[in-house]
Amino acid sequence: MTTAFITHPDTLLHIMDGNHPESPARITAIKNALVKQGIYQHLAVYEAPTASDTQLARVHHPDYIKHIRALSPKAGLVRLDADTAMGPMSLSATLHASGAAVLATDLVMQGKVDNAFCCVRPPGHHAGRANSAGFCIFNHIAVGVAHAIAQYKVQRVAIIDFDVHHGDGTEDIFKNNPQVMLCSTFQHPFYPHRGFDTRTATMINVPLPVNADGKQYQQAFDHEFLPALNRFKPDIIYVSAGFDAHVDDPLAGMHLINEDYAWITTFIKQVAKQHAQGRIVSLLEGGYHLHALAQAVSKHVSVMMQT
Ligand SMILES: [Zn+2]
Repeated sequence: MTTAFITHPDTLLHIMDGNHPESPARITAIKNALVKQGIYQHLAVYEAPTASDTQLARVHHPDYIKHIRALSPKAGLVRLDADTAMGPMSLSATLHASGAAVLATDLVMQGKVDNAFCCVRPPGHHAGRANSAGFCIFNHIAVGVAHAIAQYKVQRVAIIDFDVHHGDGTEDIFKNNPQVMLCSTFQHPFYPHRGFDTRTATMINVPLPVNADGKQYQQAFDHEFLPALNRFKPDIIYVSAGFDAHVDDPLAGMHLINEDYAWITTFIKQVAKQHAQGRIVSLLEGGYHLHALAQAVSKHVSVMMQT
């Protein structure tokens, strides 16, 4: 199997403030762990391009894209919402992160790689059609999904979001689109306090109580996600890969361990193999304990690479 690893140096230059948990050190920790474990050497490494305004405008309001471009500061920080800020390099970082999802889609759809992992930041799944939120400016996974539909005419796309927070921006963008299914596990009650009461045939929202462990996640995947995915038969699977449900994560209260990210990835691979010719585009969302994040991503990527 060939797995693409897509990143860009500018993802290290988006800094919200010196002690913020959503820090460039996350990307460095992941890369270092992959190198140390002998995984990185077997990945097909690509540099992410920037997403174009046309690609962004498939999921974001044109005025919102203009607004973000206009706010990008020459120096200092501009606050976009209670949790999200932009420095001088943040616009470039988030444009490359969305561009990573576009390139991953191209590589996977053209059969140049089997699957792809986008190691990027800021994350994206809280960004809605016309708003930033929760450290997110543009919604990269949504940009990738929309690219697959527009460019490759795929009929059905599934997104699996195992970040500890609900992917409310992704839901906002796709809730009325029957071509897109979102399968999302998340801690509830918890930020962003949305999605727990909005389940539909294509919005498979599974709120889980604080302290939920791998067993409870496995039940959610087997009993909620699997029947929905088998019914939907996606042509490609996107993964909002957040690793903040890890037991060591400082921002949340779930009990997943490194091994759980291995079976979760195996689950996704099996569904992709059955319905989607193995096509998987995975993109980093949250995960704030540097060591846990790096180890969990290593599990995720090493399973993606297995035949
Ligand atoms: Zn999160």
